[in-house]
Amino acid sequence: MGTCIGETTPLGDPVAFDGGAIEVAERTWAWIQPNGGLGESNAGLVVGDGAALMVDTLWDELLTEAMLTAWVPICERAGAPIGHLFNTHGDGDHWYGNGLLGAGVELIASAPAIAQMRAEPPSMLTRLAPVGAIAGLAGRLPLLPGAGRLRGLGAFGSQLSAYELGGLEPRVPGRSFEREATVDVGGRRVELSFVGPAHTAGDAIAWVPDVRIAYAGDILFNRVTPIMWAGPVGNWIAALDRIAALGPAAVVGGHGPVGGLAEVRALREYWAWLRERVRAEGADADPAKLAERLIHSAEYEPWREWPNPERTLVNAARIAATESGAPGGIGTLERIRLVAAMGELAERLRG
Ligand SMILES: [Zn+2]
Repeated sequence: MGTCIGETTPLGDPVAFDGGAIEVAERTWAWIQPNGGLGESNAGLVVGDGAALMVDTLWDELLTEAMLTAWVPICERAGAPIGHLFNTHGDGDHWYGNGLLGAGVELIASAPAIAQMRAEPPSMLTRLAPVGAIAGLAGRLPLLPGAGRLRGLGAFGSQLSAYELGGLEPRVPGRSFEREATVDVGGRRVELSFVGPAHTAGDAIAWVPDVRIAYAGDILFNRVTPIMWAGPVGNWIAALDRIAALGPAAVVGGHGPVGGLAEVRALREYWAWLRERVRAEGADADPAKLAERLIHSAEYEPWREWPNPERTLVNAARIAATESGAPGGIGTLERIRLVAAMGELAERLRG
């Protein structure tokens, strides 16, 4: 079923599960990028009579081109050119490839996702990559104060260099919606619903009722630790409950293999447990220390196999902040600070 898209992932790790184009239901496709790590995002395609809709593009144009090499023949065979693209949210690994789509394609996203896209174009990350490299160098000097955090930022910078982010000018969607929108894809109904702020400010999902397939964007991380940049976490839990209530035959998440109700429930349990632990600790707890202790505890067993456990630091920090009434979004500086702290924790967890 799956198309092999290479033996190593974009980040250079051995492939852990099937990737490429997977037909999850009749004329309903997922594009899966192993191993679901940073920038290793998924996408989708819904083919109707005479028209098709894409769900998301990828982090750069090379990756998006590889995906289009699979989508275009499928659409041509069906006589259904791509007429719409729905971006699930505003993180670059779900829309920086938008520039490859012609002017005739209608681009759709939630209003807050579009606001994030405007605020965080690819040039923001390409400015950050050299900062990461410099930080990586400085971080090698062990006596420097904050060397661990600098190394953490350097690790992020070197992961970024796996992607071709320079010179990208992706199209920002022209059609926005607040709560719900419906797209007629050649006679097939696709229902879009805003469920954020959760992973980001603008998360939305797509539901294809005729085959009972949900495209969850980054509301579902499958077999990989999720990361919450916005919150409150109650919105994320409500979004997972909403997907479960739809009774999906399969759920295509933003990262990891195609999942179903079991994966939706596993992620819900992680969030409910972490919220409980952060609440018990109080708002003043150091999220890095708390995350490290939780990851080493026996309670963490159900999620021990998920890569990137260090993300629990960001998740604990965001839960603490939003529970104490902070607004749902974070600024760029706070995001950089959390990325650095997360990199430092990752290093400690490896050591
Ligand atoms: Zn993503």
